[in-house]
Amino acid sequence: MLKALSRREFLAKSSVMAYPAMMAMGMLRAAPAQGFSWQGSGEGKHVIILGAGLAGMTAAYELQKLGYRCTILEARERAGGRCWSVRNGSKNIELSRPSQTARFDEGLYFNAGPSRIPHHHQLTLQYCRELGVPIEVYNNVNEGAYYFSEGKGPLSNKKIRAREIHNDLRGYMAELLAKSIDQGKISLDMTKEDASKVIEYLRAEGGLDIDKLYKSSARRGYHTPPGSGETAGKINDPHVLSDIIHSGLLDPDFYNVAEYTYELQMTMFQAVGGMDNIAKALEKKVTGSLQLGVEVTSIINTETDVKVNYKTKEGAKSVSGNYCICTLPLPVLSNLEHNFSSDISRAIDFTPYISTGKIGLQFKRRFWEEDENIFGGITHTNNDLTQIFYPSNGYLGKKGILIGFYNFNDKAKKVGALSYTDREKLALEKGSLIHPQYSEEFESSFSVSWHQTQYNLGGWALYNSETRKTLYKALLQPDKQVYFAGEHTTYLNAWMAGAFESARSTVTALHARATEQRIEYPTKN
Ligand SMILES: Cc1cc2nc3c(=O)[nH]c(=O)nc-3n(C[C@H](O)[C@H](O)[C@H](O)COP(=O)(O)OP(=O)(O)OC[C@H]3O[C@@H](n4cnc5c(N)ncnc54)[C@H](O)[C@@H]3O)c2cc1C
Repeated sequence: MLKALSRREFLAKSSVMAYPAMMAMGMLRAAPAQGFSWQGSGEGKHVIILGAGLAGMTAAYELQKLGYRCTILEARERAGGRCWSVRNGSKNIELSRPSQTARFDEGLYFNAGPSRIPHHHQLTLQYCRELGVPIEVYNNVNEGAYYFSEGKGPLSNKKIRAREIHNDLRGYMAELLAKSIDQGKISLDMTKEDASKVIEYLRAEGGLDIDKLYKSSARRGYHTPPGSGETAGKINDPHVLSDIIHSGLLDPDFYNVAEYTYELQMTMFQAVGGMDNIAKALEKKVTGSLQLGVEVTSIINTETDVKVNYKTKEGAKSVSGNYCICTLPLPVLSNLEHNFSSDISRAIDFTPYISTGKIGLQFKRRFWEEDENIFGGITHTNNDLTQIFYPSNGYLGKKGILIGFYNFNDKAKKVGALSYTDREKLALEKGSLIHPQYSEEFESSFSVSWHQTQYNLGGWALYNSETRKTLYKALLQPDKQVYFAGEHTTYLNAWMAGAFESARSTVTALHARATEQRIEYPTKN
């Protein structure tokens, strides 16, 4: 007989519970399914889609619903593009390097591309729901993870729990401000009563004493935790503010990005079993249209149709269609032959992409959980690793894979320039400074340098306010029969939501033209 779950039991299990099941039980409201059932049929029209990442496959999925015939050309032997989880046997090709094959235990994986879904990325959640991809909570904020600053300061070269630095800084900043207000050093344009409310708030925010001084607080954790009998628990003195500053812990490497960045605020989610389950679910919907191992070499655009040349193992071929949706990353497209307008060519050639890399490290034992009580979250460091990500799945299991570095820009370029073996060596050497268990427990690694990875050549598009007006704008319009989609055609760069949004807006524009309707995406409320 089925045993009914109490609410308490349900909540205890809910972090690993399938999203559809939670929805079915009425615990979660459906992510709003934005209207996407346009009138009119695309029957008889053939659309060639370049790239089977999330943007390309979503475009095909939605166009097929409207009756279009689609052909998706994908260079890799797998679909998903950047939405990729590395498992045993996964392969990657970086320029001028041998192919790399992952040697992980069956069942273990790490997300080489996307690993987090913000709770407000409704379209990503909508597709998870529509495609039946179960999700679970991704623990992005963990006060129990570390800050590790390499340097010469008194707190350098020590691992310090994030909660110590966060709460000490909160305390000191609140104290400084409260003192300044008290001493009249800041003129507040408010009544005395309001000013005293501000002071009260600062006392609470900073954990200040009655005298408005920050002395310490249990928020920063215990030296001896509370227990039974006479064990009341002992808290340490706070770190000295000047020590924090001189140890580099007030530098940008350690700014509290997680809680302050809209996209990184909890609650965050991930697809159960690997983020590429989203891509795999989409792939199932478009299998009949998808051709893998097909590398596009040139795009010839005319007033009436598009011809795409490509190469396969069997040789050179071509295909023609009424329309084309090009989702190829711009650094890749820049190396292909095409006859696009000069504005579009400029956008393709000059839009910069971020350099970024990750390494997955498999360990025999989940020492970060067993020895250090770290369950998910991120350790930050100012060395080349930048971040260590702890898995938000498989808690209390035997083995696990950490993301041993996730870096950007110059650090990613420097580390990406190393051989696979030297990247592993660096991840282990630097990581051992934080987790000495690395040397005993390490088993195998797999690293991805996205700016060197064939068919991507970059992490994601980077625009500034100037290039949004020029390069970016050019890509939002079709060039004759060719439309552009992909995260680089949205303001959601670095997010899967960008791929989904771009697919929907491109499908709308193409369908409006093909069926001579005035329809717009996003739909205005
Ligand atoms: C390191 C990293 C971390 C990320 N983290 C997150 C995250 O936490 N959360 C989140 O939501 N998003 C994240 N993203 C962003 C997200 O992965 C992307 O925005 C999204 O997957 C892009 O999809 P796309 O379809 O636009 O491009 P892609 O996935 O790049 O698809 C383009 C496709 O074109 C193919 N192609 C290239 N050249 C050719 C050719 N010549 N012929 C045929 N096919 C070709 C490629 O193989 C690829 O399949 C991350 C990305 C990276 C790289």
